Amino acid sequence: MRLGCHLSIAGGLSRALQRAQGLGCQSLQIFVQNPRAWQGRQVTDAEIEAFIALRRQTAIDPLVVHLSYLPNLAASGALLYQRSRNRLQQELALAARLEADFLVCHPGHALVNDAGVQQVAAAVAAAVGQIPPPPLILLENTAGQGQELGWQIPQLDQIIKLSGVPVGLCLDTAHAFAAGYDLRHQVGIDRLLTEIAQGPGLTAIRVIHLNDSRVPLGSRRDRHWHLGQGEIGLVGLRQFLSQAELRPQALILETPKKQSEDDPRNLAVARSLLRPQELISSLHTDLVG
Ligand SMILES: [Zn+2]
Ligand SMILES: [Zn+2]
Repeated sequence: MRLGCHLSIAGGLSRALQRAQGLGCQSLQIFVQNPRAWQGRQVTDAEIEAFIALRRQTAIDPLVVHLSYLPNLAASGALLYQRSRNRLQQELALAARLEADFLVCHPGHALVNDAGVQQVAAAVAAAVGQIPPPPLILLENTAGQGQELGWQIPQLDQIIKLSGVPVGLCLDTAHAFAAGYDLRHQVGIDRLLTEIAQGPGLTAIRVIHLNDSRVPLGSRRDRHWHLGQGEIGLVGLRQFLSQAELRPQALILETPKKQSEDDPRNLAVARSLLRPQELISSLHTDLVG
């Protein structure tokens, strides 16, 4: 498991790699477009070449791209649905030019679940038909806020199977917890892993988004929080990461960034969670104290 963060591309794509290097990250997740604007930015070949060259030097691997927030691949309106499909294809194409390994997508919001599931599957199938992996599309489990699809693993499995193309999973710990999977206890972890094993399979999990949750179990709200300071807590996160069946390529932090010390501190906590047990008690004292 190679540890990294979601980092900003402000100032140009290569700046994200420099930020990752400065933080000692082994992997990286970025947006390739402004996540809140339909107006896409033209990315020149020179910017792409510089990014690829710098990535070789930094040995950042894997590179994960997160689809921007505006596309809704389950939209009931024909116009928004078409726009969302186009945007998925554009960002997948850009991720391919950047030699990204994965493109993480949320399934979207649907008024009618069955129709939404079919639409997401069709959108993903069309995109992968145009641009086969790599990058491999990973569907992310969601918190199930509002009409969000994909908070239950069997529904994600349904989308993947319907698509008929290679698609993996990105597992977000804060989303899983808010969706009712109790990662603080082995019984909750077992329920999650069993559903995945019976669906897309545990090897489908290529990326884990390691986030604590600011909101309680089953609250169906999406509120990421600093590792060890949320409702899952250090013991829960450690328990989850200790599962031998989990073999993702990357662990990516999407924790809040209010102050410059937030990323280094959360990365340090994540590193401690990946080390042997005895360190946790001293770290816990530090955080509480
Ligand atoms: Zn996400
Ligand atoms: Zn996430």
